[in-house]
Amino acid sequence: MTTFKLQRVQYVPKELAQGVLYVSDEYAVACHLCACGCGNKVTTPLGPAEWSFYETHDQPTLRPSIGNWQLVCRSHYFITDGQVQWAPAWSDAQIEAGRRVEQERRQAHYESLDGESGIWNRIWRWIRQVVRL
Ligand SMILES: [Zn+2]
Repeated sequence: MTTFKLQRVQYVPKELAQGVLYVSDEYAVACHLCACGCGNKVTTPLGPAEWSFYETHDQPTLRPSIGNWQLVCRSHYFITDGQVQWAPAWSDAQIEAGRRVEQERRQAHYESLDGESGIWNRIWRWIRQVVRL
């Protein structure tokens, strides 16, 4: 079974070891080598609109799943309590739908930061009216 152990760092090292999830609180980022063993580096930004990181008994958990669509392997998995749980690969249509959900999630997050009367919100509403989205 593929597992990840947690290593807290200030800077993510240039050379990553397989099976280690590097987490930098300072830069709000987690980094690891793809769980399939292809050797590609996977970077997941951490934050309210990005990935969430939890630690239980020194074991890392990342949510949501990690989908490496941009890699040749297209691997898709969860890291839960340091264990890799493989998820089915997505079709192109699913990848596209997933991207859209992610964008909407980000947009909703930034709009909630702006508040109803936020300037960006007002501009966005105005653009929507003009182009009739
Ligand atoms: Zn891979």
